[in-house]
Amino acid sequence: MRIGILGDVHEEGIKILKEKKFELLNITNFDKSNLKNELANVDGIILRTSNLDSDILSHCNKLKIISRHGVGYDNVDKNFLLNNKIALAITSTSNAVSVAEHVMTMFLTLTKNIYKSDELVKSGNFNEKSELPNFFELYKKNILILGFGRIGKELAKRCLAFDSSVFVYDPYVPKEVIERHGCIEIGKENGFKEADYISIHLPLNEETKDFISFKEFNKFKNNLILVNTARGGIINQDALYDALLHKKILAAGLDVFEVEPPQKDLNLFNLENILLTPHNAALTLECRKRMAIECCENVYYFFKDLEKLNKKNIVDLKKN
Ligand code: NAD
Repeated sequence: MRIGILGDVHEEGIKILKEKKFELLNITNFDKSNLKNELANVDGIILRTSNLDSDILSHCNKLKIISRHGVGYDNVDKNFLLNNKIALAITSTSNAVSVAEHVMTMFLTLTKNIYKSDELVKSGNFNEKSELPNFFELYKKNILILGFGRIGKELAKRCLAFDSSVFVYDPYVPKEVIERHGCIEIGKENGFKEADYISIHLPLNEETKDFISFKEFNKFKNNLILVNTARGGIINQDALYDALLHKKILAAGLDVFEVEPPQKDLNLFNLENILLTPHNAALTLECRKRMAIECCENVYYFFKDLEKLNKKNIVDLKKN
């Protein structure tokens, strides 16, 4: 059985497939024409972030499963998979904790303005601390979580430990579930009005594209800290730039961008009130190992030990 590996996958996962005698094809050139060639005879694909559109997929004559190293799958043509009975797997148990910790890091770094304090001390100006701008506590603030799935729930736990009030907007999750997690269900409009912090944990799709755009920025408190570790495009980047430039909100943290990698002269880079990371919220060493193991196990179990396959890892392509 031949498996195409698209992108770096930690050896802890790869060794599972090697031990089970899968033939592995490491692909490092992601040009369309190369992918069409190299993927023509694979039975499975382990996929990191490269795009697999229908043009490429139509050349994959033997493909039975794509196993994502991660949980998002907006880089794959789902309709093509559905129509051609190709399975799509994700690593649902691996990355929520790392992403939730990343959000807490962004919340706290932006709240405490920690870089300014660091700069002050290193530049020999310890005694000038009263010159630093105000910084704040997370304690008793209103935190709005958009999307109460795997990551949203892990984030809620961490925010509650800071004695914050955690509000959730997710019309697909029953109120009882939200309350059982110690959170408060809220409508989108009220949530936008009340929030001191917002963190986004939605999938990117037609419904969520530009979920936060020019109109929404006029509804927020001006002390809002807004963090997006989900997908670029859920916040409209032009609207975000405008809001940060004109101090409509206090600050933002982004791990994801409308175009990745972002252009070198992106206007957001010139702002002081934004913190940026290179789509690496789930790339802690622990998480990379877990994702590698889970995505390789998905392939192994799918082909050779179906009983053991975590069915929750197989995406329902009809629903999504
Ligand atoms: P999940 O599927 O467990 O949760 C998503 C939640 O969003 C669900 O509860 C769903 O009901 C809700 N939802 C969907 N549409 C909605 C809408 N229109 N309004 C309100 N709620 C809606 O997903 P997850 O594992 O928590 O991941 C969330 C996001 O994070 C995904 O976009 C994923 O791609 C992204 N992600 C990013 C990284 C990273 O490295 N930055 C890592 C992992 C996941």
